[in-house]
Amino acid sequence: MPDNAAVSIPSAFLQELLARTDLVEVVGRHVALRKSGANYVGLCPFHAEKSPSFTVSPAKQFYHCFGCGAHGNAIDFLMAHTGAGFREAVHDLAAQLGLTVPEEERSPEQRAREAAQRRAQQTLTELLAQAARAYRAQLKASPRAIEYLKGRGLTGQIAKTYGLGYAPAQRRFLSTVFGDYQDARLVECGLVVEGDGDEARRHDRFRDRIMFPIRNVKGEVIGFGGRVLDGGEPKYLNSPETPLFHKGEELYGLYEARSAIRQAGCALVVEGYMDVVALAQLGFGHAVATLGTACTPEHVRKLLRFTDDVVFAFDGDAAGRRAAQRALAAALPWAGDTRRFRFLFLPPEHDPDSFIRTHGAEAFAAALAQATPLSRFVLEVAADGCDLATAEGRARAGRGGRMRRRCRRAAPRAGCWAAATASRASC
Ligand SMILES: [Zn+2]
Repeated sequence: MPDNAAVSIPSAFLQELLARTDLVEVVGRHVALRKSGANYVGLCPFHAEKSPSFTVSPAKQFYHCFGCGAHGNAIDFLMAHTGAGFREAVHDLAAQLGLTVPEEERSPEQRAREAAQRRAQQTLTELLAQAARAYRAQLKASPRAIEYLKGRGLTGQIAKTYGLGYAPAQRRFLSTVFGDYQDARLVECGLVVEGDGDEARRHDRFRDRIMFPIRNVKGEVIGFGGRVLDGGEPKYLNSPETPLFHKGEELYGLYEARSAIRQAGCALVVEGYMDVVALAQLGFGHAVATLGTACTPEHVRKLLRFTDDVVFAFDGDAAGRRAAQRALAAALPWAGDTRRFRFLFLPPEHDPDSFIRTHGAEAFAAALAQATPLSRFVLEVAADGCDLATAEGRARAGRGGRMRRRCRRAAPRAGCWAAATASRASC
């Protein structure tokens, strides 16, 4: 939903919307609140604290944090907490009250179409939520799946936080979950695969896999990632593109990581959902993952709603290096003086999950602290792929003037901001 049309929502409607919204209920869906005198209090979702200084006033319909100064109404809360844009937050509140947002530039037909689309998406969301519940229940009933997760060092608590589940091996397990297995919407939301239109050949997409529900920033399940427990192929399987799930836009773990990102002051982007969960288990709750796709500018934009500091972590092999260059290209349009992008390269034999399990949390924190700033990575890429982190790379890049000349020549190709940085940098 484009956000630039905020001005077209009449202010009288906004006032009515806010007057009819119960802020305690809106905030209460995201923060545990308890009554304290005339107000409600809870732990502030916008800063790290152990005793509650976050208050919600039902009378004034405002929240206020005495710790960090966060303050606002229901629209402000949704924007700050879920990363929603203004229009998205207004539509969310309106939908909960059953109101239609009047928007002057939209024709009645357009509005009707959008309303129908929202209703259809709502149904798909409910089907996915139901599947997620069924997969969670199956995990509890599968000693093999539990053993697998334990073997990866995960506790029940972290499995619960990320809503992990298990899809049993049956071809049509979901027929026991949904009344009508032939429902076309099960195919539309990616849970069921149509066997060439032959009803008898219909089957569950995910079988004998650990299920990672992919949630949007509102916490709704929009898709799944499934990982095999043994050596099967493919190792990772994601939901296909659906009306709800666009992998070029979604980041696994962002919903779960929001608070940790704010508290850490930065976000960590990794490549796999197992990395995200393993890092969270060991205290790095601010990790998110792209979903079997290269990092896009849209991914970066989404993250920048929550933080100005992003670290991309990659395997140290050639594939990781290529992925890093694509992440660099995705980050460059957003780079500026107030934003920081850094690139972490792990040893070639490791992904973040295996690195942190082999070397421990402290070693990972130390590696994070050594991450390469964007300005330096631009120069490395510009210098024809010479790896300045290795002695060999430095030798190949040569000393002094030759390196500088190459950087200046190559930098303009890498984008205007990068070029400016490159000409400032002392290489
Ligand atoms: Zn606060």
